[in-house]
Amino acid sequence: MRHPVVMGNWKLNGSKEMVSNLLKGLDAELKGVEGVDVAVAPPAMYLDLAEQLIGKGESKIILGAQNVDVNASGAFTGDISPEMLKDFGASHIIIGHSERREYHSESDEFVAKKFAFLKEHGLTPVLCIGESEAQNEAGETVAVCARQIDAVINTQGVEALDGAIIAYEPIWAIGTGKAATADDAQRIHAAIRAHIAEKSEEVAKKVVIQYGGSVKPENAEAYFAQPDIDGALVGGAALNAESFAAIAKAAAKAKK
Ligand code: PEP
Repeated sequence: MRHPVVMGNWKLNGSKEMVSNLLKGLDAELKGVEGVDVAVAPPAMYLDLAEQLIGKGESKIILGAQNVDVNASGAFTGDISPEMLKDFGASHIIIGHSERREYHSESDEFVAKKFAFLKEHGLTPVLCIGESEAQNEAGETVAVCARQIDAVINTQGVEALDGAIIAYEPIWAIGTGKAATADDAQRIHAAIRAHIAEKSEEVAKKVVIQYGGSVKPENAEAYFAQPDIDGALVGGAALNAESFAAIAKAAAKAKK
């Protein structure tokens, strides 16, 4: 049985006050909630504060981050290394988010390099994949997801996916309120798992595949009722403690 993981991607949002209120609120909301891993990815600027606050609380919030570089140190202005993330207690690192693929021209190959670098440093990659609206309409969804995953499998072997998390996020559903139906998401998740199973049934059975794209407390339960949806990567709704906790609780309940 796969353990569900619900992760909040705070993107470019936050202030010391917001980080503090949100984490304290989450800590209170998640008291006694078992059966789901809950992670948050604040902007890198606030990892220090988040680490301190999480350390003080009783909840088991996992600290994550939104990006990593492919270099360990040196003349790479503005970048962040895996060891720096580890230094602040961040373990679950989002890579290949569609916003980075689009606004920073990150290719499948570059994202795969980040994947390898995170694994090398004992961190958990949260590999975002997903199709654009045009690709969806052209019926290319599964092929696009397979290509994005193959960039990792073909360079590192299917075993590299062991212990990693895949987040299937249709780009047209991110931040739009236009979520995929639970049935459609399940169909794609099953196809992604089947694609991995072609290389290793064992790895396919174990790998956590989150759905992301306008997940809210109102629709979360329907996703988590699906056999191949093992959690969620949440943007907008993760900025509110009550909403995000409601999504985490829905995962814990559905996957009992
Ligand atoms: C995301 O940014 O990964 C995301 C899924 O955002 P939202 O939940 O706002 O659609």
